[in-house]
Amino acid sequence: MDINRRNKDIVRRGRRLKNGRRGDGPVVYWVSRDQRVRDNWALLWAQQEAISRQKGLLVVFCLVPDYLGAKSSQYLFMLRGLARMQKKLHEMNIHFTLFEQSPDDILPGFLRQIDAHLLVSDFDPLRIKRQWTEQLIAQVVTPIYQVDTHNIIPAWMVSDKKEYAAYTIRPKIKRLLDDFLTDIPPLQHHPFSWAHTLALAGSSSLARVISTLNSSGCELRGAGEASAQFAADSFIKIGLENYSERRNNPCLNGQSGLSPYLHFGHLSAQRLAWVVSRDKLPIETKEPFLEELIVRRELSDNFCLYEPLYDTFAGFPAWARKSLDQHRCDERAYLYSFHDLEAGNTHEQLWNACQIDLVQSGKLHGYLRMYWAKKILEWTPNPETALEYAIRLNDRYSLDGRDPNGYAGVAWSIGGVHDRAWAERPVFGKIRYMNEAGCRRKFDVNSYMSSVFARERE
Ligand SMILES: Cc1cc2nc3c(=O)[nH]c(=O)nc-3n(C[C@H](O)[C@H](O)[C@H](O)COP(=O)(O)OP(=O)(O)OC[C@H]3O[C@@H](n4cnc5c(N)ncnc54)[C@H](O)[C@@H]3O)c2cc1C
Repeated sequence: MDINRRNKDIVRRGRRLKNGRRGDGPVVYWVSRDQRVRDNWALLWAQQEAISRQKGLLVVFCLVPDYLGAKSSQYLFMLRGLARMQKKLHEMNIHFTLFEQSPDDILPGFLRQIDAHLLVSDFDPLRIKRQWTEQLIAQVVTPIYQVDTHNIIPAWMVSDKKEYAAYTIRPKIKRLLDDFLTDIPPLQHHPFSWAHTLALAGSSSLARVISTLNSSGCELRGAGEASAQFAADSFIKIGLENYSERRNNPCLNGQSGLSPYLHFGHLSAQRLAWVVSRDKLPIETKEPFLEELIVRRELSDNFCLYEPLYDTFAGFPAWARKSLDQHRCDERAYLYSFHDLEAGNTHEQLWNACQIDLVQSGKLHGYLRMYWAKKILEWTPNPETALEYAIRLNDRYSLDGRDPNGYAGVAWSIGGVHDRAWAERPVFGKIRYMNEAGCRRKFDVNSYMSSVFARERE
């Protein structure tokens, strides 16, 4: 790629959030959602700026306790990935610093202390990340830029409004995709060192933090970019060909299993889409996977970006709110507390198996996730409670939880977001219904339940 094209490709993925005074210190990349060195447009953006101004480059991560209800196994997965990121950065002459404080508390003073040249952050539409960013904008004099390195096309460029459904965002994505779905240039060994003499007040050791955690409960897979790359390569080699026939059958292991890597940014969705799109398999075979990876993922980010109430009843479409309101007082045949649900203690063995599977493995198959969330609507006193419980359980137990895909997925299941009205029935109103009989028509429910219960007994 020629240098001008490379630079332009990097620059167009970012936007300026704040003008300010460029200090004499390093360019700082505040990494949050995209925890990788390779294929990271935000890091490339920061490096390009640092090289053009002959500055050192520093990456900081702010570790917040109790982030959206995450458990220690999720922290451990993330921190192991960060440890590998730190090592790789070090080899590239890029400094990495960990803080155990929220970014709005630590970064303003820190940026002042090192006289930062400018700050680059990655993009995340979730409320907490946006609040942190707004606090930073208000408190620092340093210029701030944001780069969307999670989506293939920056979320603010795909659309400037909340999209109604996949069919409304798809043409907008397709229009820009050829231009944005490119190869990603490599990061360079950074030519300028940051010769800091200041003690980085408040910085922590990753190894120490990791040693204080244990993965209680959920079995952990390999974390970090190398494991993510290995999993992606294996899926493309073995799973992609049969994805479309197998993905809706929880007994066949037909999904890619890549969502935790995509969630923590260990894997670039753009790299994955680029490799899949150039694979020799026929386009009809690859299309269903690319639809999920690109259209559905970017639709979820669009939902959280333009719907401030993405995790509340008020975030549901008007037809769904009206219909759910009309069925508020319908009698529920079963009512379960949060504790019953969390313990997998309902009358329906399939639902209990799903919950146990989620707790044990940190994941639940995509098809079962829909059934699982819809039953919570059926078995709780109102849609608000259902939404709260489903989000709380998903965020607490899914390795890929606390993600726009999760908020959109739960809102789709319980509140008709990105869906249409269906035949009316008790409790659900016009929200699409699912039940165990439907699952039995799709896959061998008994075999799924036996494998989960056998694992539980081990
Ligand atoms: C109630 C409910 C909760 C969900 N919670 C989450 C969550 O917390 N985190 C999460 O990443 N996904 C969530 N999803 C979406 C989807 O179920 C998962 O992304 C998918 O099952 C992850 O497994 P995979 O990586 O093997 O997917 P694959 O089928 O292999 O798909 C590849 C990638 O495409 C994207 N994708 C696939 N399906 C969807 C979808 N429906 N919406 C948006 N993106 C999609 C994901 O990034 C996924 O990793 C949820 C769906 C529902 C109905």
